[in-house]
Amino acid sequence: MVWNDCLRDRKEAHAAGLPYVTSAELSRLRITQAKRTEERAWLAEVSAVVLQQSLRDLDAAYKNFFDSVKGKRQGRKVGSPRYKSKKDTRQSIRLNTNAFPLQDDGTVYVAKVGNLKVTWSRRLPAAPTSLTVTKDSSGRYFLSFVVDTEPDILPEVEAEAAVDLGLSAFAVLSDGRKIDSPRFLRRAEKKLKRLQRELSRKAKGSKNRAKARVRVARQHAKVADRRRDFHHKASTQIIRDNQAVYVEDLAVCGLARTRLAKSVHDAGWSTFVGMLEYKAALHGRTFAKVDRAFPSSQICSACGFRDGPKPLHVRQWTCRECGAVHDRDHNAARNVLSEGRRIVAAGRAETPNACGAPVKTGTRARTAR
Ligand SMILES: [Zn+2]
Repeated sequence: MVWNDCLRDRKEAHAAGLPYVTSAELSRLRITQAKRTEERAWLAEVSAVVLQQSLRDLDAAYKNFFDSVKGKRQGRKVGSPRYKSKKDTRQSIRLNTNAFPLQDDGTVYVAKVGNLKVTWSRRLPAAPTSLTVTKDSSGRYFLSFVVDTEPDILPEVEAEAAVDLGLSAFAVLSDGRKIDSPRFLRRAEKKLKRLQRELSRKAKGSKNRAKARVRVARQHAKVADRRRDFHHKASTQIIRDNQAVYVEDLAVCGLARTRLAKSVHDAGWSTFVGMLEYKAALHGRTFAKVDRAFPSSQICSACGFRDGPKPLHVRQWTCRECGAVHDRDHNAARNVLSEGRRIVAAGRAETPNACGAPVKTGTRARTAR
């Protein structure tokens, strides 16, 4: 509400040609004075830290917007801040460290809310610096802590791996291993699809529709939990086993996708790649992304011949140059491995954003033709 009140003040001032309302004024008007009105008296019940935080968040949103207008920001255009609706399924507040003392019994004290009993997903490696409390669409609360950690360097190993988004499995490694999502996750996804179909058949505005929506939201949360869990386990394992990890980067910036069949798990893929990236940094491993424009599925990983695009149903092919028989996914992963090594050797461990970056093909690809 503080966000909306303050945003309205700024928008109205702007429409009336008045100067930009400063945060100090907003704080006085919308927090200190508003508490004395009947309509906003409940603000006094809310932790002051939270109220000030929503004001700071609004300022940050405005700054991003202004920078975007002035062209100071790279990438996507940022729109002007919008009103927050009570119907927003996800609601969150951010607190800084003195607002949430951690108790010895594992509970977290949140100012003006009280002690929260917490199911910890993992131990905090150090004292947190801030906390975000999120309420999801099925009414559950999540706490996420920001913790500054020292890297935890793992002993060196020989192996290196490329991880490619598979067609027939979730991921394929350059050594030929395939990682598939566990059955409990697939089952939960299937159930979600069924519940979504049921929801779409319920009459608009009916009680049954509302009930079905809650069921979908709950199942959604369950699927998200299980998927995150699976991504964590798989990424930790890959980082432990390999000194260097290369991945195919599927990041797109509104461009049309060429590999449609793979887009099914793209959302999950970028989260998974993000985990590999931060875990590599945390454990002292080499990590590089291979541009998605790199034709990983067209090149023969045995001789380097570029065999041309393959329709998606082609799972296996024979190289016209050297006669090697390839599993499509495994071959692609091996190409990502050699391209990743080339990128790191060329001192470009930090690959530029896929958008607008020139297409870099491997040396092997160029010799073929
Ligand atoms: Zn070949």
